[in-house]
Amino acid sequence: QGITIAIDGPAGSGKSTVSRLVAEALDGGILDTGAMYRAVTWSCLADGVDLADREAVAAVAEAIDLDLGTDPAGATVAVGGTDITAEIRTERISQRVSDVATNTLVRAILQRRQREVLFATAGARGFCVAEGRDITTVVAPDAHVRVLLTASDEERMRRRAAELDLEDTEDTRARMADQVLRRDRDDSTVSEFLTAAEGVDEVDTTGLGIEDVVEQVLMLVAA
Ligand code: C5P
Repeated sequence: QGITIAIDGPAGSGKSTVSRLVAEALDGGILDTGAMYRAVTWSCLADGVDLADREAVAAVAEAIDLDLGTDPAGATVAVGGTDITAEIRTERISQRVSDVATNTLVRAILQRRQREVLFATAGARGFCVAEGRDITTVVAPDAHVRVLLTASDEERMRRRAAELDLEDTEDTRARMADQVLRRDRDDSTVSEFLTAAEGVDEVDTTGLGIEDVVEQVLMLVAA
């Protein structure tokens, strides 16, 4: 059956990096659920679909030819054969993705797919780490290990800037506030990802190095 590990956290909590390193340490697979919401957003923008049209966006989510890599060494994202791994991380997508993520029709479709991929990958590789906003609560409340990663707002904005290789300027700070804090607000209607649900282990990563966080998660897996 395989071991399933659910990791939730807000933007800049370090969950992508931590999830990748945990999956690598266990030689397991990874499922980046945010990449699915981003890929649907990309697809809608590419096809000129109005993000406010709930049914039309859900139809895109249902029909999308999504190839989501589950190998932590190089998890790529492709739609209809086009590699969009880098494209979906751009601000153009980050700014619009909450419009798609707050669409409950879309969520039901993607959550079902996420469960399929999570269990299939865990079965095939022995372990699978799924990361997102609602994995510990909705997608896989029965996961073997459930972790919520948190960090202070300042730390999350700093990390996002570093991730995008941006210098620490006034302009960068304003853009990161938009990417991190505005997205918290936009996403807050769909998930209570800032507080740990019952039975979920919260790890405050503020001031911790990535390796320390990875070690804590691996300890929970081994427990
Ligand atoms: O994790 P990442 O920043 O790539 O997620 C992008 C967006 O996808 C989030 O801001 C949120 O709107 C949405 N998302 C979600 N549920 C998940 C994962 C991501 O709503 N499980």
